Amino acid sequence: MATKPSHSLMWNSKAECMPIEERRSLQLKRLQDLVERIAVQSPFYRSLFQKHGVKPGDIRTLDDLRRLPFTVKEDLRDNYPYELFATPLKDVVRIHCSSGTTGKPVVSGYTANDIEMWTEMMARSLTSAGASYRDVVHNSYGYGLFTGGLGIDTGARKIGAATVPMSGGVNNRQIMLMEDFGATVLTCTPSYALVLAEAAAQMGLDIRNRIKLRVGVFGAEPWTEEMRVEIEEKLHLEAYDIFGMGEIMGPGVSVECAYHNGLHMQDDNFLPEIIDPDTGEPLPPGEQGELVITTLTKEAMPLIRYRTRDITRLTDDPCPCGRTSVRHFKLTGRTDDMLIIKGVNVFPSQIEAVLLRHSELAPQYVLVVERKNNLDQLEIQVEATEAFYNQGADTISLFSEKLHYEMQQMLYVSSKIIIVPPRTVQRSEGKAKRVIDKRKEWLER
Ligand SMILES: [Zn+2]
Repeated sequence: MATKPSHSLMWNSKAECMPIEERRSLQLKRLQDLVERIAVQSPFYRSLFQKHGVKPGDIRTLDDLRRLPFTVKEDLRDNYPYELFATPLKDVVRIHCSSGTTGKPVVSGYTANDIEMWTEMMARSLTSAGASYRDVVHNSYGYGLFTGGLGIDTGARKIGAATVPMSGGVNNRQIMLMEDFGATVLTCTPSYALVLAEAAAQMGLDIRNRIKLRVGVFGAEPWTEEMRVEIEEKLHLEAYDIFGMGEIMGPGVSVECAYHNGLHMQDDNFLPEIIDPDTGEPLPPGEQGELVITTLTKEAMPLIRYRTRDITRLTDDPCPCGRTSVRHFKLTGRTDDMLIIKGVNVFPSQIEAVLLRHSELAPQYVLVVERKNNLDQLEIQVEATEAFYNQGADTISLFSEKLHYEMQQMLYVSSKIIIVPPRTVQRSEGKAKRVIDKRKEWLER
C-alpha cells in the first residue's frame, strides 16, 4: 500500500465520497426500481423471477438481494442475441460482444444513458489513476467489438485528455508514436505492456529519457503484484489496476486509487457480493470467493447477481483517499482458469508470482497440462533473460532445480520446469494465453 499517494485527483467527489448510509439507501432505491422494471420489461427476468417465486415487493432491504436468482454466462449464450435486453431495440445505441472464435458470442447492449453512465465511470477511473486534461493517452486496448478500446476512449474524452486510438499490434510503431506524441498515460492489458517494454528495449530506446509515460491503466486479465513491479520498473510509470467485463459494461467497474490498496467498486452503479463458488452461499466480509455483481442502473441489459467467475475478496475498511465505496482486492484468478492438478487447485497467478521473483527469468511463460499414464502433469515453460541464457546449460539446470523446489512450496504439487530461450514464448496484443490444457482437448475428442 502506498503511504504517500502520487496525487489526490477525483472526478466526482460528491458521488465518490458519499456518506455510507446515503449510498446504501441509493443502492436500495436503485435495486428496487431495477427489479420492478425488469419484472415487467425483460421477458428473461420475468420468467426467471416467476420460476424462483420472487416478486418486486420482496426487496425491502439490501440483504433481500440474496433472494434473487443468479445470472450466469450460459444465460447470455442461451438467450443470444437480444433476449436479455430489457428495452426495445429502438432504444439501443451500441452493441458489443465477446471476441470468442467458436460458437455464439456473449452480447451486450447499451442505451444512450448506459453509454453516458459508462463514460462517467471511465472519467472517474482515469482520474483516480491520476490522469487529466493535460495528458496524452496512448490507448492500446483493441477498438471494435471488445469494450476496452471505446470504453477508455470515451472516458478520456470526457476528462479532456488527448487520446491516441491505437489498438494493439505493430509494436515498433507503438513505441515510435508514444515517443513522438509525448504519451503520458498508457492503457492496455498488463501482458501487452510488457510486450511494449520489450519492443522498446529491442529498439535500443532509452525508455526513461525518451518516453514520458507517467501512468499505466492496465486490466482485462488478472495480474499479480510481481507483474506490477516488473511493468513499473521497465516502463518507468505508476501502474493502476482497472476491472470490468463486457457483460457488465466494460472497463471502469472498479479501479485503484493512488493508495493501491484494492480496487474501488463504483458501487452506486454496480453492487458487489462474494459467494462460495461451490454452494452459491454469500460469504462474510473479508472472505475470498467468487465476485457477483448486480448492475443497478443499466437500462438495455441489466444483470441480476451476475457470476463473474473472478476470485477475490471485499473490504469496506475506510480508504485514506476519501472514497467511501467498497473495494475488492486484486483478482487472484478466475474459476475457469483454475487448474486441478492431481486433485490440487492451482491458479496461474500463483505460478506467475514465483516466476517473477527471479531476475534470471523474463516475464513470459506458458503452462502446459497433460495427462500421462492417468496422471496429471504440469509443465511450466518460462523464458530466460538473454544474459542468463548465455551463462550456459549447467547454470540453467542448477537454477531449474531451485525453481522446482520453490514452485512445489507454493503449489503443493510437483511440476516440470523448462527454461526456454529468450523470445520463444508467443506474445499477445491483448489478453495473454498462458494455459494449454491438453486434458480438455482429450475430453473433447
Ligand atoms: Zn482509495
